[in-house]
Amino acid sequence: MRFMVDIKQMTPDEITSEIIGMGLPRYRAEQIIRRIYGRGAADFGEISELPKKLRAELEKRFVLTAPILERKLVSELDGTIKFLWRLPDGNAIESVLLRYDYGNSICISTQAGCKMGCAFCASPPNGFSRNLTASEMLDQILFAQRESGEQISRVDLMGIGEPMDNIDEVLRFLELVNNPLFAPGGRAKGSPIGLNIGMRHISISTCGIIEGIDKLASYGLQCNLLISLHAPDDETRSSLMPINRVTGVDKLLEACLRYSKITGRRVSYEYALIKGVNDSDAQAETLAEKIKSVGGHVNIIRLNEAAGQFEPGDAHAFCGKLVAMGVNATVRRTLGADIAAACGQLRLQKKNLTVKFLRYYE
Ligand code: SF4
Repeated sequence: MRFMVDIKQMTPDEITSEIIGMGLPRYRAEQIIRRIYGRGAADFGEISELPKKLRAELEKRFVLTAPILERKLVSELDGTIKFLWRLPDGNAIESVLLRYDYGNSICISTQAGCKMGCAFCASPPNGFSRNLTASEMLDQILFAQRESGEQISRVDLMGIGEPMDNIDEVLRFLELVNNPLFAPGGRAKGSPIGLNIGMRHISISTCGIIEGIDKLASYGLQCNLLISLHAPDDETRSSLMPINRVTGVDKLLEACLRYSKITGRRVSYEYALIKGVNDSDAQAETLAEKIKSVGGHVNIIRLNEAAGQFEPGDAHAFCGKLVAMGVNATVRRTLGADIAAACGQLRLQKKNLTVKFLRYYE
Protein backbone atom coordinates (compact mmCIF):
# COMPACT_ATOMS: atom_id res chain seq x y z
CA MET A 1 0.00 0.00 0.00
CA ARG A 2 1.35 3.43 -0.95
CA PHE A 3 0.89 6.33 1.48
CA MET A 4 -0.13 9.62 -0.04
CA VAL A 5 2.35 12.43 0.49
CA ASP A 6 1.35 16.01 1.26
CA ILE A 7 3.01 17.78 -1.66
CA LYS A 8 3.13 21.14 0.15
CA GLN A 9 5.23 19.63 2.92
CA MET A 10 7.96 19.19 0.33
CA THR A 11 10.55 21.69 -0.83
CA PRO A 12 10.75 22.37 -4.58
CA ASP A 13 13.79 20.15 -4.85
CA GLU A 14 11.91 17.31 -3.18
CA ILE A 15 8.89 17.83 -5.44
CA THR A 16 11.19 17.83 -8.45
CA SER A 17 12.83 14.56 -7.36
CA GLU A 18 9.41 12.94 -6.92
CA ILE A 19 8.22 14.10 -10.33
CA ILE A 20 11.39 12.94 -12.05
CA GLY A 21 11.07 9.67 -10.12
CA MET A 22 7.69 9.23 -11.81
CA GLY A 23 9.52 9.26 -15.13
CA LEU A 24 8.36 12.78 -15.98
CA PRO A 25 10.43 15.66 -17.35
CA ARG A 26 11.71 18.34 -14.99
CA TYR A 27 9.50 21.07 -16.49
CA ARG A 28 6.41 19.27 -15.18
CA ALA A 29 7.67 19.89 -11.65
CA GLU A 30 8.02 23.58 -12.42
CA GLN A 31 4.46 23.73 -13.76
CA ILE A 32 3.13 22.12 -10.60
CA ILE A 33 5.17 24.33 -8.24
CA ARG A 34 4.20 27.47 -10.13
CA ARG A 35 0.50 26.73 -9.85
CA ILE A 36 0.58 25.64 -6.21
CA TYR A 37 2.50 28.73 -5.10
CA GLY A 38 1.35 31.22 -7.69
CA ARG A 39 -2.40 30.84 -7.43
CA GLY A 40 -2.94 28.53 -4.49
CA ALA A 41 -4.30 25.57 -6.49
CA ALA A 42 -7.04 23.82 -4.51
CA ASP A 43 -6.74 20.54 -6.44
CA PHE A 44 -4.67 19.05 -9.23
CA GLY A 45 -7.63 19.43 -11.57
CA GLU A 46 -6.98 23.19 -11.54
CA ILE A 47 -3.52 22.74 -13.01
CA SER A 48 -4.91 22.80 -16.52
CA GLU A 49 -1.53 22.84 -18.27
CA LEU A 50 -0.98 19.25 -17.16
CA PRO A 51 -2.43 16.37 -19.21
CA LYS A 52 -5.61 14.94 -17.69
CA LYS A 53 -4.00 11.54 -17.17
CA LEU A 54 -1.13 13.10 -15.20
CA ARG A 55 -3.53 15.11 -13.02
CA ALA A 56 -5.34 11.89 -12.16
CA GLU A 57 -2.01 10.21 -11.37
CA LEU A 58 -0.97 13.11 -9.11
CA GLU A 59 -4.28 12.89 -7.25
CA LYS A 60 -3.55 9.26 -6.47
CA ARG A 61 -0.01 9.97 -5.23
CA PHE A 62 -0.22 13.29 -3.44
CA VAL A 63 -2.45 15.17 -1.03
CA LEU A 64 -2.99 18.79 -2.03
CA THR A 65 -4.33 20.52 1.08
CA ALA A 66 -6.88 23.32 0.66
CA PRO A 67 -8.80 25.01 3.48
CA ILE A 68 -12.42 25.98 2.90
CA LEU A 69 -13.16 29.66 3.44
CA GLU A 70 -15.99 29.67 5.94
CA ARG A 71 -16.09 33.35 6.75
CA LYS A 72 -14.34 36.52 5.65
CA LEU A 73 -14.65 39.86 7.42
CA VAL A 74 -13.30 43.07 5.94
CA SER A 75 -12.68 46.07 8.18
CA GLU A 76 -14.32 49.27 6.97
CA LEU A 77 -11.81 51.19 9.06
CA ASP A 78 -8.54 50.00 7.56
CA GLY A 79 -9.17 47.14 5.10
CA THR A 80 -7.93 44.42 7.48
CA ILE A 81 -9.34 41.06 6.36
CA LYS A 82 -10.05 38.27 8.78
CA PHE A 83 -10.45 34.75 7.42
CA LEU A 84 -12.04 31.80 9.16
CA TRP A 85 -10.88 28.61 7.47
CA ARG A 86 -12.39 25.14 7.87
CA LEU A 87 -9.87 22.31 7.57
CA PRO A 88 -10.81 18.95 6.04
CA ASP A 89 -11.01 17.34 9.51
CA GLY A 90 -13.52 19.98 10.68
CA ASN A 91 -11.14 22.13 12.71
CA ALA A 92 -11.44 25.90 12.31
CA ILE A 93 -8.47 28.25 12.22
CA GLU A 94 -8.07 31.97 11.59
CA SER A 95 -5.73 34.26 9.71
CA VAL A 96 -5.71 38.05 9.50
CA LEU A 97 -4.41 40.04 6.56
CA LEU A 98 -3.17 43.46 7.61
CA ARG A 99 -2.35 46.38 5.35
CA TYR A 100 0.59 48.64 5.98
CA ASP A 101 2.30 51.34 3.95
CA TYR A 102 5.14 48.93 3.29
CA GLY A 103 2.91 46.06 2.07
CA ASN A 104 0.58 43.32 3.26
CA SER A 105 1.26 41.18 6.27
CA ILE A 106 -0.57 38.08 7.42
CA CYS A 107 -1.01 36.76 10.92
CA ILE A 108 -1.41 32.99 10.83
CA SER A 109 -2.40 30.23 13.24
CA THR A 110 0.03 27.45 14.10
CA GLN A 111 -2.31 25.13 16.00
CA ALA A 112 -6.02 24.36 16.04
CA GLY A 113 -6.67 25.68 19.53
CA CYS A 114 -4.02 26.15 22.18
CA LYS A 115 -2.94 24.38 25.38
CA MET A 116 -1.45 27.41 27.09
CA GLY A 117 -4.57 28.86 28.70
CA CYS A 118 -3.47 32.51 28.95
CA ALA A 119 -6.11 34.31 30.96
CA PHE A 120 -6.60 37.09 28.45
CA CYS A 121 -6.74 35.07 25.25
CA ALA A 122 -9.72 34.44 23.00
CA SER A 123 -8.48 30.91 22.28
CA PRO A 124 -10.45 28.92 24.82
CA PRO A 125 -8.59 27.12 27.61
CA ASN A 126 -8.47 23.37 27.05
CA GLY A 127 -9.55 24.07 23.49
CA PHE A 128 -6.52 22.44 21.92
CA SER A 129 -7.33 20.13 19.07
CA ARG A 130 -4.07 19.49 17.19
CA ASN A 131 -0.91 20.93 15.69
CA LEU A 132 -1.11 22.35 12.19
CA THR A 133 1.21 20.98 9.57
CA ALA A 134 3.66 23.23 7.76
CA SER A 135 1.48 22.98 4.66
CA GLU A 136 -1.58 24.14 6.63
CA MET A 137 0.39 27.18 7.77
CA LEU A 138 1.51 27.79 4.20
CA ASP A 139 -2.08 27.45 2.95
CA GLN A 140 -3.15 30.39 5.10
CA ILE A 141 -0.86 32.60 3.02
CA LEU A 142 -1.56 31.01 -0.35
CA PHE A 143 -5.33 31.06 0.04
CA ALA A 144 -5.45 34.54 1.61
CA GLN A 145 -3.61 35.71 -1.51
CA ARG A 146 -6.02 33.80 -3.71
CA GLU A 147 -9.09 35.18 -1.91
CA SER A 148 -7.85 38.78 -1.68
CA GLY A 149 -5.99 38.89 -4.99
CA GLU A 150 -3.12 40.58 -3.17
CA GLN A 151 0.49 39.72 -2.57
CA ILE A 152 1.65 39.09 0.99
CA SER A 153 5.19 40.03 1.91
CA ARG A 154 5.33 39.56 5.67
CA VAL A 155 4.18 36.80 8.02
CA ASP A 156 3.49 36.83 11.74
CA LEU A 157 3.07 33.56 13.63
CA MET A 158 0.83 35.21 16.18
CA GLY A 159 -2.59 33.71 15.54
CA ILE A 160 -4.22 30.81 17.34
CA GLY A 161 -1.76 28.43 18.95
CA GLU A 162 1.70 28.52 20.45
CA PRO A 163 4.35 28.21 17.68
CA MET A 164 7.03 26.83 20.04
CA ASP A 165 4.67 24.03 21.04
CA ASN A 166 4.74 22.97 17.38
CA ILE A 167 8.33 23.93 16.67
CA ASP A 168 9.25 21.15 14.21
CA GLU A 169 6.38 22.00 11.85
CA VAL A 170 7.10 25.72 12.33
CA LEU A 171 10.72 25.15 11.28
CA ARG A 172 9.57 23.24 8.20
CA PHE A 173 7.13 26.08 7.43
CA LEU A 174 9.94 28.63 7.72
CA GLU A 175 11.97 26.63 5.23
CA LEU A 176 9.06 26.53 2.78
CA VAL A 177 7.94 30.13 3.09
CA ASN A 178 11.45 31.51 2.91
CA ASN A 179 12.35 29.36 -0.08
CA PRO A 180 12.57 31.43 -3.23
CA LEU A 181 11.31 28.35 -5.09
CA PHE A 182 13.30 29.19 -8.12
CA ALA A 183 12.45 27.18 -11.13
CA PRO A 184 13.80 23.67 -10.65
CA GLY A 185 17.38 23.76 -11.78
CA GLY A 186 18.35 26.92 -9.96
CA ARG A 187 18.40 30.68 -10.20
CA ALA A 188 19.79 30.71 -13.70
CA LYS A 189 16.42 29.51 -14.90
CA GLY A 190 14.68 32.76 -14.06
CA SER A 191 12.74 34.67 -11.45
CA PRO A 192 11.41 33.20 -8.21
CA ILE A 193 8.16 31.31 -8.51
CA GLY A 194 7.51 30.88 -4.80
CA LEU A 195 6.72 33.15 -1.88
CA ASN A 196 10.35 34.04 -1.21
CA ILE A 197 9.49 35.84 2.04
CA GLY A 198 12.68 36.92 3.77
CA MET A 199 13.37 35.73 7.31
CA ARG A 200 13.50 39.32 8.53
CA HIS A 201 9.90 39.67 7.34
CA ILE A 202 8.78 36.75 9.50
CA SER A 203 7.89 37.21 13.19
CA ILE A 204 7.29 34.44 15.70
CA SER A 205 5.45 35.21 18.90
CA THR A 206 5.67 32.93 21.91
CA CYS A 207 4.30 32.85 25.42
CA GLY A 208 7.78 31.63 26.41
CA ILE A 209 8.54 27.94 25.84
CA ILE A 210 12.25 27.96 26.50
CA GLU A 211 13.11 24.69 24.68
CA GLY A 212 11.44 26.09 21.56
CA ILE A 213 13.31 29.39 21.80
CA ASP A 214 16.62 27.55 22.17
CA LYS A 215 15.81 25.22 19.27
CA LEU A 216 14.88 28.14 17.03
CA ALA A 217 18.08 29.94 18.08
CA SER A 218 20.16 26.88 17.18
CA TYR A 219 19.07 27.26 13.55
CA GLY A 220 20.51 30.80 13.53
CA LEU A 221 17.63 32.13 11.43
CA GLN A 222 17.13 35.85 11.06
CA CYS A 223 13.42 35.90 11.89
CA ASN A 224 12.00 38.21 14.56
CA LEU A 225 11.23 36.80 17.99
CA LEU A 226 8.38 38.34 19.95
CA ILE A 227 7.81 37.40 23.57
CA SER A 228 4.33 37.76 25.06
CA LEU A 229 5.64 39.08 28.35
CA HIS A 230 2.75 41.10 29.80
CA ALA A 231 4.24 41.27 33.30
CA PRO A 232 7.76 41.69 34.70
CA ASP A 233 7.20 39.77 37.95
CA ASP A 234 6.41 36.09 38.43
CA GLU A 235 3.34 36.62 40.58
CA THR A 236 1.52 38.75 38.00
CA ARG A 237 2.77 36.85 34.97
CA SER A 238 1.85 33.46 36.46
CA SER A 239 -1.65 34.75 37.15
CA LEU A 240 -2.02 35.72 33.48
CA MET A 241 0.01 32.98 31.80
CA PRO A 242 0.22 29.50 33.35
CA ILE A 243 3.43 28.71 31.41
CA ASN A 244 5.21 31.17 33.68
CA ARG A 245 4.78 28.81 36.64
CA VAL A 246 7.16 26.50 34.80
CA THR A 247 9.61 28.98 33.29
CA GLY A 248 9.60 32.13 35.42
CA VAL A 249 10.36 35.57 33.99
CA ASP A 250 14.11 35.53 34.65
CA LYS A 251 14.76 32.18 32.95
CA LEU A 252 12.67 33.33 30.00
CA LEU A 253 14.71 36.51 29.67
CA GLU A 254 17.93 34.49 29.88
CA ALA A 255 16.69 32.39 26.93
CA CYS A 256 15.93 35.60 25.02
CA LEU A 257 19.44 36.85 25.69
CA ARG A 258 20.84 33.57 24.34
CA TYR A 259 18.64 33.96 21.27
CA SER A 260 19.95 37.50 20.67
CA LYS A 261 23.56 36.44 21.10
CA ILE A 262 23.28 33.49 18.71
CA THR A 263 21.21 35.18 16.01
CA GLY A 264 22.27 38.79 16.43
CA ARG A 265 18.57 39.73 16.39
CA ARG A 266 16.89 42.06 18.84
CA VAL A 267 14.00 40.46 20.75
CA SER A 268 10.68 42.32 21.13
CA TYR A 269 8.52 42.06 24.22
CA GLU A 270 4.76 42.41 23.96
CA TYR A 271 3.10 44.02 26.91
CA ALA A 272 -0.71 44.34 26.86
CA LEU A 273 -1.51 46.96 29.41
CA ILE A 274 -4.23 45.95 31.86
CA LYS A 275 -5.49 48.45 34.35
CA GLY A 276 -4.72 47.48 37.94
CA VAL A 277 -2.91 44.32 36.90
CA ASN A 278 0.39 45.19 35.21
CA ASP A 279 0.42 48.99 34.93
CA SER A 280 1.82 50.16 38.29
CA ASP A 281 4.88 52.39 38.67
CA ALA A 282 6.67 49.57 40.47
CA GLN A 283 5.98 47.21 37.55
CA ALA A 284 7.21 49.84 35.08
CA GLU A 285 10.44 50.10 37.08
CA THR A 286 10.92 46.32 37.30
CA LEU A 287 10.18 45.95 33.60
CA ALA A 288 12.65 48.71 32.70
CA GLU A 289 15.37 47.18 34.85
CA LYS A 290 14.92 43.69 33.38
CA ILE A 291 14.64 44.76 29.76
CA LYS A 292 17.69 46.99 30.02
CA SER A 293 19.66 44.03 31.37
CA VAL A 294 18.90 41.85 28.31
CA GLY A 295 18.27 44.48 25.62
CA GLY A 296 15.31 44.54 23.29
CA HIS A 297 12.23 46.54 22.49
CA VAL A 298 8.91 46.74 24.34
CA ASN A 299 5.65 46.95 22.40
CA ILE A 300 2.92 48.32 24.60
CA ILE A 301 -0.38 46.94 23.34
CA ARG A 302 -3.65 48.72 23.94
CA LEU A 303 -6.59 46.47 24.68
CA ASN A 304 -9.02 47.23 21.88
CA GLU A 305 -12.09 46.01 23.67
CA ALA A 306 -13.20 46.09 27.29
CA ALA A 307 -14.40 42.59 28.13
CA GLY A 308 -14.17 39.95 30.74
CA GLN A 309 -12.35 40.96 33.87
CA PHE A 310 -9.86 43.25 32.14
CA GLU A 311 -9.83 46.96 31.49
CA PRO A 312 -7.31 48.79 29.32
CA GLY A 313 -4.54 50.70 31.09
CA ASP A 314 -3.13 54.02 29.89
CA ALA A 315 -0.70 52.71 27.29
CA HIS A 316 0.84 56.06 26.36
CA ALA A 317 1.48 57.03 29.99
CA PHE A 318 3.07 53.64 30.76
CA CYS A 319 5.16 53.79 27.60
CA GLY A 320 6.32 57.30 28.55
CA LYS A 321 7.56 56.00 31.91
CA LEU A 322 9.56 53.22 30.24
CA VAL A 323 11.09 55.62 27.73
CA ALA A 324 12.02 58.02 30.53
CA MET A 325 13.86 55.13 32.19
CA GLY A 326 15.86 54.48 29.02
CA VAL A 327 13.83 51.62 27.55
CA ASN A 328 13.20 51.34 23.84
CA ALA A 329 9.38 51.21 23.92
CA THR A 330 6.46 52.15 21.68
CA VAL A 331 2.67 51.86 21.70
CA ARG A 332 1.33 49.81 18.85
CA ARG A 333 -1.47 50.75 16.54
CA THR A 334 -4.58 48.56 16.58
CA LEU A 335 -5.91 47.32 13.26
CA GLY A 336 -9.19 45.61 12.46
CA ALA A 337 -10.90 46.90 15.61
CA ASP A 338 -14.34 46.61 13.99
CA ILE A 339 -13.98 42.96 12.97
CA ALA A 340 -12.79 41.30 16.18
CA ALA A 341 -9.25 40.96 14.94
CA ALA A 342 -7.90 39.43 18.13
CA CYS A 343 -6.88 35.81 17.80
CA GLY A 344 -9.58 33.24 18.31
CA GLN A 345 -12.43 35.75 18.32
CA LEU A 346 -14.02 34.67 15.07
CA ARG A 347 -13.61 31.02 15.95
CA LEU A 348 -15.30 31.66 19.27
CA GLN A 349 -18.15 33.59 17.70
CA LYS A 350 -18.67 30.65 15.40
CA LYS A 351 -18.80 28.33 18.37
CA ASN A 352 -21.13 30.77 20.12
CA LEU A 353 -18.84 31.06 23.11
CA THR A 354 -18.18 34.13 25.21
CA VAL A 355 -15.23 36.10 23.91
CA LYS A 356 -12.70 36.84 26.61
CA PHE A 357 -10.23 38.46 24.20
CA LEU A 358 -6.78 39.94 23.97
CA ARG A 359 -3.86 39.10 21.64
CA TYR A 360 -3.99 41.74 18.98
CA TYR A 361 -2.89 41.74 15.42
CA GLU A 362 -1.09 45.02 15.07
S1 SF4 B 1 -2.09 34.02 23.98
FE1 SF4 B 1 -1.13 32.56 22.55
S2 SF4 B 1 -0.17 31.06 23.88
FE2 SF4 B 1 -1.64 32.15 25.17
S3 SF4 B 1 -3.52 30.89 25.05
FE3 SF4 B 1 -3.64 32.46 23.44
S4 SF4 B 1 -2.85 31.49 21.60
FE4 SF4 B 1 -2.19 30.26 23.34
